[in-house]
Amino acid sequence: MKRIVIVGAGQAGASLAARLRAEGHEGAITMIGEEPVPPYQRPPLSKQYLMGEMALERLFLRPESFYAENGIDLHLSETAVAIDRADRTVIAGGHTHPYDTLALCTGAVPRRLPGAIGGELAGVHVVRDLRDVDTMAPAIRAGGRALVVGGGYIGLEAAAVCAKAGMEVTLVEAAPRILGRVACSETADYFRALHRARGVDLREGTGLERLVGEDRVTGAALSDGTELALDMVIVGIGITPATALAEAAGLAIENGIRTDAEGRSSDPAIWAAGDCASFPWRGGRLRLESVQNAIDMAETVARNMLGAGVAYDPTPWFWSDQYDVKLQIAGLGQGHDRVVVRPGTTTGSVSHWYFADDTLLAVDAMNAPRDYMVGKRLLEAGRSPDRAALADPGTDLKALLAA
Ligand code: ADP
Repeated sequence: MKRIVIVGAGQAGASLAARLRAEGHEGAITMIGEEPVPPYQRPPLSKQYLMGEMALERLFLRPESFYAENGIDLHLSETAVAIDRADRTVIAGGHTHPYDTLALCTGAVPRRLPGAIGGELAGVHVVRDLRDVDTMAPAIRAGGRALVVGGGYIGLEAAAVCAKAGMEVTLVEAAPRILGRVACSETADYFRALHRARGVDLREGTGLERLVGEDRVTGAALSDGTELALDMVIVGIGITPATALAEAAGLAIENGIRTDAEGRSSDPAIWAAGDCASFPWRGGRLRLESVQNAIDMAETVARNMLGAGVAYDPTPWFWSDQYDVKLQIAGLGQGHDRVVVRPGTTTGSVSHWYFADDTLLAVDAMNAPRDYMVGKRLLEAGRSPDRAALADPGTDLKALLAA
């Protein structure tokens, strides 16, 4: 019976382990995680959980008893430090774990501000794991002053939480506009206006010169010359795939652990899934940072470890919550050359459809769940709606599906 070891006890690791059992794998499963708690959902960390509106127990993907009941040997507070590919062992927390098949679900690490500009002062937080959020939560209170660095979804969600809590919030984005990596300018315009309407001082094309303070951050100097007095800083400047362990073991790395279409790394006994992995996709190579990808790639890998031989070919989806706006995204907009705006029927409801020529690539739906659902179905079917019909609010969306 194959012994399977999973490094990483996040969403991908947990999905992989559960899927192996669901597919009938009866051999040993060992899961190694460096955090002290069983696998939990990360998306609420920058949303409801940060807001204090979600209990800790609801974050956990499964009760801790699930792992023992399913013969999943969960090693928490253990960091895997080396893989011996010749011996087929993983060294973690002083143990040597033998494997026949190994899965790397190591996730990603948040980028931090350099220590030289004050990045290591107390009161400067990233939003990646439970400990980060538990540490910053007490500072989120009415009247406090927060600086958010980075205008991606993490930074914007954190800014929304702080503003809702009654804080004075400044957000700096170094690039000319927010959401440059992931969204079109129409979507950026929408969220810029939303945040400004809620009182966030959102500054684009503005970098951070340095943070100031003795041990704890008390202020910041911005590149536009502004000096701010502060109580806390939230840094949301992106993440990098956690590839150090794989790299040290000599596995091929290409914007993450390089896998084939099934999720196998350059060593056939080692697989990878989730934020840490890049896989072939539509003639290129893709690495996704999303819970959809963590679950779906891990489940595909689990099946492939048992011999299914299926290619991972996702229709990516994402979401974000900011104030009373629910953004749902289907597809990937990269490479688009035009955006069709479809106005909704209620204020704040609108969808942005990304096209490359006549081909639909993605949709951003703001408080427009029907648009999202239809867009996702069209993308899954590889179909593109007529752009003029789409832009006409009189066109029934269902008709576009049927067309
Ligand atoms: P995330 O998923 O963490 O939100 P993104 O990469 O989508 O990550 O967004 C991070 C944003 O942070 C980008 O828009 C990037 O331009 C911005 N950024 C990166 N470094 C800095 C910096 N030092 N100061 C301000 N903004 C930054």
